[in-house]
Amino acid sequence: MRTDFADLVAALDIGGTKIAGALVDDRGRLLARAQRPTPAREDGATVMGAVAAVIDELGGAAQWSRVRAVGIGSAGPVDASRGTVSPVNVPGWRDYPLVAEVARRVGGLPVVLVGDGVAMTAAEHWQGAARGRANALCMVVSTGVGGGLVLGGRLHPGPTGNAGHIGHISVDLDGDACPCGARGCVERIASGPNIARRALDAGWLPGPDGDRSAAAVAAAARAGDAVARASFDRAAQALAAGIAATATLVEIEVAVIGGGVAGAGEVLFAPLRERLRDYATLSFAAGVEVLPAELGSDAGLVGAAAAAAQELGLWAGREPGTA
Ligand SMILES: [Zn+2]
Repeated sequence: MRTDFADLVAALDIGGTKIAGALVDDRGRLLARAQRPTPAREDGATVMGAVAAVIDELGGAAQWSRVRAVGIGSAGPVDASRGTVSPVNVPGWRDYPLVAEVARRVGGLPVVLVGDGVAMTAAEHWQGAARGRANALCMVVSTGVGGGLVLGGRLHPGPTGNAGHIGHISVDLDGDACPCGARGCVERIASGPNIARRALDAGWLPGPDGDRSAAAVAAAARAGDAVARASFDRAAQALAAGIAATATLVEIEVAVIGGGVAGAGEVLFAPLRERLRDYATLSFAAGVEVLPAELGSDAGLVGAAAAAAQELGLWAGREPGTA
């Protein structure tokens, strides 16, 4: 079987809590895995040490000789044009030359860097809910709100690997200040912590277990709590406005939503589909579908590999965009 000899991509998924790695084949299968906690409060060299440990463990796998490239999906902001990352939750890395540091640990294999939202998008386009769609917005709604775009059948990372970062589009011009410096961003309204904060401010009371998370607000909404429902409705409204803006700007067919907040299911998706009718009004935007993401926690790894394969032209005939 050719798959026994096919080229592999070593994928890295770098976040504020963990650094995951895997060898990925041309069908999106993960053949070997490694993982370390992110020493997010340590200096840059220590964080890189954890990345190096993941690479070293993958390097010990029997299939390593088939690796042709490295794909990295990292918490952002990233700058793919310079090969640097400045993850908000990893203060030891500011303009950190991640691509160069990884490249010198993998014998000069080509290294492709994208933001984590773009990686998730590559995964959903290749293997998930955006499969076969030529134009899509994929979003991660969790502690933050990120995203990425597929345009004309191909992943569209943009010059620095951040295109589609819908979390920091303003949908409330004079709204609350966002940590990014703007006001009324989608993330400031729709992220998990903001859903929970808004519910608490409006008088929602956590249950006896004291859980104050967005998941607890979702459970209360499901049980009929009006304040909890209103907080999700407001988040849905912000997401709908952002999706409608994207559909109007670049004519997407589908918006795919993953991340922990999407786990609320119909508590989020029902008001979102309804609110979308208020904002996606023009004929060419009104048909945009909203679907839950299909890939789980491996989306970052699968997508980092897919993004590298597309950019480097590996896996001819199988890579994302040729399905
Ligand atoms: Zn913002």
